[in-house]
Amino acid sequence: MNMETNEILIARAKTVIIATGGAGRLHYQGFPTSNHYGATADGLVLGYRAGAKLLYADTLQYHPTGAAYPEQIFGALVTEKVRSLGAKLINVNGEAFMHPLETRDVSAASIIRECSDRGNGVKTADGVGVWLDTPMIELKNGEGTIEKRIPAMMRMFGKYGIDIRKEPILVYPTLHYQNGGLDIKADGMTNIENLYVAGEAVGGIHGRNRLMGNSLLDIIVFGRNAGKNASEKSKSVELGGLTLEHINKFASEQKAAGIETDVVSPKLLPNYARRK
Ligand SMILES: Cc1cc2nc3c(=O)[nH]c(=O)nc-3n(C[C@H](O)[C@H](O)[C@H](O)COP(=O)(O)OP(=O)(O)OC[C@H]3O[C@@H](n4cnc5c(N)ncnc54)[C@H](O)[C@@H]3O)c2cc1C
Repeated sequence: MNMETNEILIARAKTVIIATGGAGRLHYQGFPTSNHYGATADGLVLGYRAGAKLLYADTLQYHPTGAAYPEQIFGALVTEKVRSLGAKLINVNGEAFMHPLETRDVSAASIIRECSDRGNGVKTADGVGVWLDTPMIELKNGEGTIEKRIPAMMRMFGKYGIDIRKEPILVYPTLHYQNGGLDIKADGMTNIENLYVAGEAVGGIHGRNRLMGNSLLDIIVFGRNAGKNASEKSKSVELGGLTLEHINKFASEQKAAGIETDVVSPKLLPNYARRK
C-alpha cells in the first residue's frame, strides 16, 4: 500500500525477504519503547499467516535505561555509554542498588524490582523511574566529558530544560529488541519455500536474549546471506498464480479454534501515529 495515496499495488516476486524489523510499538505489558513507529511485528504476522514457524516469539529485550521523564521522550533510549562513563543507577533513597555495568536483562530486572517489589522508585506524573546520576560523570572524568562523549544525550534532555551535567535524569526499562521472530534455516529461508527473513524479524539469532551492540552485525551478515541465497534461488523459480488462499485458510483455522477478534493486523503503525 502506498501510504501517501492509500493505493494498493501488487508485487509479484519469485522469492521474498521479510525485513520488517521489531515489535516495540506493540507496547507489550504496557511498556514504552525505543523503537521507531513502524516496529509493529508486521513481518511476523505476514510470515505466520503464510505458514512460517515462529521461534521464541515471546522474548523481548528491555533496554534498562529508557527516558522516564519528561513525557515527550518517554521510552527514548539513554545509551549505555552513560553508565560506562560512570553514571550510577540510584533509587529514591539515594542508594546505588545495583552494579551499573550489569548486562541488560539483569539491569532491567533490577530496576523493575526496585520500583515494583521494593517500592523504591521515584514517582513521576505518569509512572515511575530511578535516577541515573549523570553529574557523577563530570565528577569522575572532569568537566566537559558529557559534552564531548555523549552530546546527543545532552541535547535530548537539554531541549526540555534538563542539564544532565548538573541534574540526574529519570530512567525506566523500555522495549528495545525483538529476540524472537520467524525461524530460518542456514540459508535464511523459512520452512515456506522461497520465503526468506533478515534482520530483527528473524527469530533467535542470539537465542532468547542478546548482548548489546551485536544486532547490526547480525543484520549485515545474515542479511547478506539471505539476499545472496534469495537471489540465487529466484533463478530457478517459476512464478505461480497469485492467491490469498493462505489467508482464507488462516481465517478458517482461527474460526475453528473459536477465536473471534476485530484486531486488524498487520498493523503498519500504532493507532496513535499521525498519518500525515
Ligand atoms: C534506539 C536504538 C538504538 C540501537 N542501537 C544499536 C546499536 O548501537 N548496535 C546494535 O547492534 N543494534 C542497535 N539497535 C538495534 C538495531 O538497530 C536493530 O535491531 C536493527 O536496526 C534492525 O534492523 P532491521 O533492518 O531488521 O529493521 P528496521 O531497521 O527496523 O527496518 C525495518 C523497516 O521495515 C519497515 N516496515 C515495517 N513493517 C512494514 C510493512 N508492513 N510494510 C513495509 N515496510 C514495513 C519499517 O518501517 C522499517 O523501515 C538499536 C535499536 C534502537 C531502537
